[in-house]
Amino acid sequence: MVKLTFYGGVGEIGGNKILLEDDKGKLFLDFGYPYKKYRDFYEEYLKPRAGAGLLDLLVMGLLPHLEGIYRTDLETGNLWQQFRPAGHYRRLEGVEGVLLTHAHLDHSGHISCLREDIPVYATATTAFVTKAIQDSGKADFDQQVCYFTPRVEERVPGLKQGAYIASSSGDRQRRFSVADESRLRKEARDFWAKGTRQKKLDSQPLDDFGNCSFNLRCWPVDHSIPGACAWGIETSSGWLIYSGDLRLHGKRADLTEAFMKEARQLQPRALILEGTNVNKATNIAEEEVRKNAFKAIDSARGLVVADFPARDVDRLLTFLQVAKDTNRKLAILPKDAYLLKTMRLLEAEIPDIGQEDAIVIYQETTASRSPAQWLQKTYEEYSSKVVLAKDVASNQSDFVLCFSFWDLNELPSIQPRAGGLYVFSSSEPHNEEQQMDFWRLHHWLDRFGLRRFGLPVQKNADWEIPEKEKGLHASGHACGPDLLRVAREIQPEVLIPVHSEKPEFYVDSLANSGINVTLPTEGGTVGI
Ligand SMILES: [Zn+2]
Repeated sequence: MVKLTFYGGVGEIGGNKILLEDDKGKLFLDFGYPYKKYRDFYEEYLKPRAGAGLLDLLVMGLLPHLEGIYRTDLETGNLWQQFRPAGHYRRLEGVEGVLLTHAHLDHSGHISCLREDIPVYATATTAFVTKAIQDSGKADFDQQVCYFTPRVEERVPGLKQGAYIASSSGDRQRRFSVADESRLRKEARDFWAKGTRQKKLDSQPLDDFGNCSFNLRCWPVDHSIPGACAWGIETSSGWLIYSGDLRLHGKRADLTEAFMKEARQLQPRALILEGTNVNKATNIAEEEVRKNAFKAIDSARGLVVADFPARDVDRLLTFLQVAKDTNRKLAILPKDAYLLKTMRLLEAEIPDIGQEDAIVIYQETTASRSPAQWLQKTYEEYSSKVVLAKDVASNQSDFVLCFSFWDLNELPSIQPRAGGLYVFSSSEPHNEEQQMDFWRLHHWLDRFGLRRFGLPVQKNADWEIPEKEKGLHASGHACGPDLLRVAREIQPEVLIPVHSEKPEFYVDSLANSGINVTLPTEGGTVGI
């Protein structure tokens, strides 16, 4: 019998951690960061203690109590002793790898805690995006997906207790096995092998996943981050399909369609399907976003700020097109430039920043004395493209500035003139913390007299986008009717919904379809 145990992604959007056990071996399907569980205890200034390693995450129920799968350098003292008597404790050995669907942290983040000799199976694009994100961001110890610095215990004179600190040996990369290794060019391999921080990277070669004991299929699908895929695993009970996150209304919908056809041909035993947007009846396509954004920006006088999700390269390219069509330049942040450059190593259709007249790079005003290497190199490589706050300030109607809420503190250096426009092209707030951010965002825009378009406004307890300003965000997730189409086209014997707050949707909607819907429980096992 094949067993699936759900350690995350049950009744919540994200945090997927699914253990597959078969006579052939054991695999995890994603190993994500459970944002919702973190929010119950933590916030920006109250975080799990890096020096305490796994302890905080295990005690607070953020990581499953599975001894044997985690980095031993994150163990402090006799860590596991206290967990062994509990019912949900288990010793787990022989995990062959993690099948990672994409680089959003709610699917990938807790790979940071896994032993480095457990390989991560992914597309090359996903592997590269995990590196670009980590190179150009501040990853806490529990979000270091691509590489990590092992921790060592050191005695501190005068203190009763030693301290766990990052070792000086440098960063160690995880083993990634990618589906499409043969198409990597030399520049791409060089990017993978190179550290960008001060210490060197102990790099692992990317290899193909031919040596996994399961027969695997990896299908690229359309989602709001490059490199997303769905997986097929041939188990002793037949083929198991895992959708990851997907949609049928994006620029690469044809990929998702091809996945559905090929998965159906395998006559799968089971399908694990996401259900983020089961409540939505329709979708907005990326092309509609472009048209609506064009209308809003074409009539704007003065500075335009465009706020869209990080790492959504499709949306960035949509705004690039709109910038060109409205005779403006798209000013992106260095981390976006770094991601585009990384993507271009694998996908020739991504624009070359150096050759694209309509792209410039905005340099933040308060530069550090010793910028990180990736940042310095980005500024050097594209030096003719760098614009400063004063350049934007003196030619405000020449730019579409790609800022999010977190970049607003640059505005005092730019001082946008009244009448400028803030275009919001992202999703509505999902929790109270995000609502507070929207409240602040409105204050910022009032302060500078910026008009807003597509921005949610407070209506009683809810935040909603005004009716006339909808249509500026294409979700990364398929709507309810599209998800049912995915289920019916693939036609598995059993469907297991994950990554959803309303998994019952599938039970009601697929009655009499010949598909048995099984709802997983947190920490529970489903036999297939
Ligand atoms: Zn996602």
